Amino acid sequence: MRILVTGGAGFIGSAVCRHLLTEVGAEVLNVDKLTYAGNLASLRDIDNRPGYRFVRADICDRPAMDALFADFQPDGVMHLAAESHVDRSITGSGAFVQTNIVGTFTLLEAARAYWQGLPSEREASFRFLNVSTDEVYGSLGDDGLFTEATPYDPSSPYSASKAAADHLASAWARTYGFPVVLSNCSNNYGPYHFPEKLIPLVILNALHGKPLPVYGDGGNIRDWLYVDDHARALHLILTRGRIGEKYNVGGRNERKNIDVVRQICAILDQLSPAGQPHDRLITFVKDRPGHDQRYAIDAAKLETELGWGARETFETGVEKTVRWYLENEWWWRPLRDSVYAGERLGLAPAA
Ligand code: NAD
Repeated sequence: MRILVTGGAGFIGSAVCRHLLTEVGAEVLNVDKLTYAGNLASLRDIDNRPGYRFVRADICDRPAMDALFADFQPDGVMHLAAESHVDRSITGSGAFVQTNIVGTFTLLEAARAYWQGLPSEREASFRFLNVSTDEVYGSLGDDGLFTEATPYDPSSPYSASKAAADHLASAWARTYGFPVVLSNCSNNYGPYHFPEKLIPLVILNALHGKPLPVYGDGGNIRDWLYVDDHARALHLILTRGRIGEKYNVGGRNERKNIDVVRQICAILDQLSPAGQPHDRLITFVKDRPGHDQRYAIDAAKLETELGWGARETFETGVEKTVRWYLENEWWWRPLRDSVYAGERLGLAPAA
């Protein structure tokens, strides 16, 4: 099976490429623009494997996408390329509209043109997976879970742009009969996660004795999933999901942000003792505008229909993740030392 992966140099995309090559035995074409979030170092362990190719390209570039489809002749697409950081979407929404909406539209059109030209048996088995987030559903109160029937109600420019992309993908299935499947996943964590996101930010700041910023009172709740469990779910949805259907993906791991930060501190106290407890560094900062209170996913459809289940608990996954950051400074050091990190995230390089 030949799979075209967009955004494969990003956090989840690199885990997807690794899963497809090492567990599934698929051929992979990784198409990525290499924005600040794209990092070929995340693919160092697989980039020499037979069946793997990387092409630097922008999903908004229709001629480039047409050429890649014609050349690679994929059996399926896993579309992950996106601008993905909520805080950046608040200060600069244009890139989110461009990549997440215009880029998804451009990719859908290139894929549809390619699909229409396939011989009938290959046309029948082709699939396009649009990878999205639970943030499209907006915020939950104290009770309830997001199901596939929850109406969209996005709060941030990021989630609004992802919602728009999901609607385009669904419409391409209904209007053109284009074989789209959709996924909406909760917050991921794990190795190769860019240091601007909560879990790696806390690990690396704690290691450097820097403040651990927590929005508001830290009471916002997220539902966490280890990235490899997501990668496995995405392959299942691509190959066995029903056309036109969406599948929620989540690990039933609801945690308050403050509890996540405290848990990381406790693990670091064991694995990398600093003399004083790491949680002394916790610093509450002004809340993010439009900050959703709670996300929680009901993944029953994926579990019952496709037999998926998360393998990591939050406890095992977070400990694995902390260990990975402790052992892989070669990967995060250049990112941490970058100008962006120093300016915006209180991640100034250690003296
Ligand atoms: P990421 O920011 O780590 O990676 C995104 C990748 O897309 C980068 O490699 C970047 O270079 C590439 N990219 C950006 N614009 C591009 C363009 N115009 N053309 C080609 N490539 C481009 O993001 P991630 O966390 O790995 O998320 C991947 C996907 O999964 C996104 O669609 C995101 O919305 C979705 N998602 C993420 C999470 C999460 O917790 N991280 C949860 C659910 C869904």
